[in-house]
Amino acid sequence: MNTLDKVLFEALQQQQQQQLWREPLMRDGPQGVYQIIEGKKYLCFMSNDYLGLAHHPLLINALQKAATQYGVGSGASHVVNGHTVLHHELEQALAKLTHRPAALLFSTGFMANLAVISALCQRRDVVIHDRLNHASLLDGTKLSGAKLVRYRHLDIQDCEYKLQACSAARRKLIVTDGVFSMDGDIAPLPELSRLASAHDAWLMVDDAHGFGVLGAQGGGTLEHYDVSIEQVPVVVGTLSKAFACFGAFVAGSETLIETCRQFARPYIYTTAMPPALAGAALQAIAISQRPEEAWRRAHLQDLIGQFRAGAEKRGLTVLPSNTPIQPICLGSNATTLAMGEKLKAQGILVSTIRPPTVPYGQARLRISLSALHQKEHITQLLEALGAGFGK
Ligand code: PMP
Repeated sequence: MNTLDKVLFEALQQQQQQQLWREPLMRDGPQGVYQIIEGKKYLCFMSNDYLGLAHHPLLINALQKAATQYGVGSGASHVVNGHTVLHHELEQALAKLTHRPAALLFSTGFMANLAVISALCQRRDVVIHDRLNHASLLDGTKLSGAKLVRYRHLDIQDCEYKLQACSAARRKLIVTDGVFSMDGDIAPLPELSRLASAHDAWLMVDDAHGFGVLGAQGGGTLEHYDVSIEQVPVVVGTLSKAFACFGAFVAGSETLIETCRQFARPYIYTTAMPPALAGAALQAIAISQRPEEAWRRAHLQDLIGQFRAGAEKRGLTVLPSNTPIQPICLGSNATTLAMGEKLKAQGILVSTIRPPTVPYGQARLRISLSALHQKEHITQLLEALGAGFGK
């Protein structure tokens, strides 16, 4: 073994010993309620395809049609010649969805967060985070060079203490997930926006898991609370979860969008998303807003209710969440992995989430519901959990 491999190997061994090893499942076929992994069929509760659109025929058709018309790769960044009419239409649709004057596309949600935070803040600034914010928001802050401060999860008073402690900073940006990705609970946007205006700070929300799911029109956490652009001037969303495609966006004022276009390096120095994906995303947004498709959100709520009531009846403790993300916190990595394996042996897949995705000692099963699940699937999940936990 050469010296490079020797050094790397040690860290890999540690990762394995601490039960933090991750490896991809190799799926054959589309995302859906049932998935084929290594030739075996599983009932799946792992995907972020909350509205069940990932293999919707209209999305597939839109992708194929756009690929026929525009080809596959976009060929260059947005600010060179990668930006097509479809990208433009998608930005307009996203501005409309978010009730903001403008929106800007990014290749992924991770890059959107790197881009937006580093375009807004630099060394003399402070970015104040909820303790459970997504990794990309933390990395965006590191990239920006601003000071990173964290407040206790959902704790408005702690957020205020942190704001008071950094009152001398040039710019203050409060950043929060809208729906927390590993907990499923919702950030208190009205209270955070009040704090922001009282302390001369700005509020940024990453609503990756809220768009498409929350609000009567699928407008996410913004619609859930009916918050204005004055209250939440910076909104990031991804197209990869409820909209079942790929790519992401920021929405806000024309000035915010132009600032990102001019200064955000992860926007400027990367190839624009393939135009066919923009075509598919346009279709996903259209479907998610059609009145005849509103059943997807209503059905999800019914499934959430059924799951929570069933879990309570069996004495299973599920973290408080009214979104499709339903976590059962087990604490230890080993117990969580063992429970994941027990469920898999019963033909059910759930995610086993371990640090550093969640805080140390808070490993958990992350159960993710989709509008394509049926009541009997939830019953099957509850029975498997009951058997696994001996309840
Ligand atoms: N923000 C949050 C809250 C997320 O959960 C994720 C995805 N895990 C992202 C951003 C990144 O989005 P994408 O997968 O589009 O890179």
